[in-house]
Amino acid sequence: MLADNVFLKILDGTIPARIAFQDDLCLAFHDIHPQAPVHILIIPRKVIRTHAELRQEDTSLIGHMNLVAGQLARDLGLDQGYRIVINCDTDGGQTVPHLHMHLLGGRALGWPPG
Ligand code: 5GP
Repeated sequence: MLADNVFLKILDGTIPARIAFQDDLCLAFHDIHPQAPVHILIIPRKVIRTHAELRQEDTSLIGHMNLVAGQLARDLGLDQGYRIVINCDTDGGQTVPHLHMHLLGGRALGWPPG
């Protein structure tokens, strides 16, 4: 696997991260620039560059990532709610070209996004 972006480097251990959860399908770690008291990124081990690249065969993977987010939210006490965000490509504001789900919580979050 060519680790050509920061999240692939976190996956292969080249770059350290504060890991919150990991299993054979995904890795969850704390965002380096948190936008809320809880800001965790959940990424697949499979190389998928954007949400738009998801295919039928990824159904259980993306479902699993959602369940991991929900479990982390429970574990971290986000009992007032939380937000899941996936930024896709240029207009979506995606800056790292490896699919990632943001789990944000611990404060009331504004809406709509800018
Ligand atoms: P995006 O804008 O692509 O949806 O989100 C990328 C996220 O990755 C940003 O919130 C950014 O702070 C985070 N990030 C970028 N580089 C690193 C890093 O090296 N380590 C960690 N933990 N987070 C990073």
